Amino acid sequence: MPYISQEMKIIAIGRNYVDHIKELNNETPSEPVIFTKPDTALLRNNDPFYYPDFSNNIHYEVEIVLKISKMGKYIAEKHADSYFNEIGIGIDFTARDLQDKAKEKGLPWALAKGFNHSAPISKFVDKKEFSDIRNLDFSLKLDKENRQNGNTSLMIYDFNYIIAYISKYITLKKGDLIFTGTPKGVGAVKRGNLLEAFI
Ligand code: MG
Repeated sequence: MPYISQEMKIIAIGRNYVDHIKELNNETPSEPVIFTKPDTALLRNNDPFYYPDFSNNIHYEVEIVLKISKMGKYIAEKHADSYFNEIGIGIDFTARDLQDKAKEKGLPWALAKGFNHSAPISKFVDKKEFSDIRNLDFSLKLDKENRQNGNTSLMIYDFNYIIAYISKYITLKKGDLIFTGTPKGVGAVKRGNLLEAFI
């Protein structure tokens, strides 16, 4: 029997904040835009990110990340809350040059979004630590300068809707991560930049 690994998966939602949709001149979606990153995209423990040689335009996108706490499919929106206990913050690194090319041709974003270490994540915190995760400020600094400020109340599709929507198509398993979209202010990183994300 050939070995098939069963790793966690990363699912992400694009175009979930109106102000970010406008800055990239994208259309507002009538349903969530979903893409995935493989488990090899993870970058943890504040390890350094090495700039890949296949892109000249890697962008940062700061995002709130949900950690799925139990398996579920066809999760009802009203029960979705019980499928994640912890949240964290992450960066959805995007090779914007590869993505722009793919978009032009109507091709998938797999490489533009899923390359190695394109998903740095923080430690995860019990969501009960926050007074209201539906009204949560988060931000990103680049070399100590503020670049992105978001609040989860401004999401087009909220956490519960995202979980219900994804789980219709893809079974969610314990340990899977969901990147929930970025607010405006995305931009290019350069070698030597220091990125710091905050909730
Ligand atoms: Mg993103």
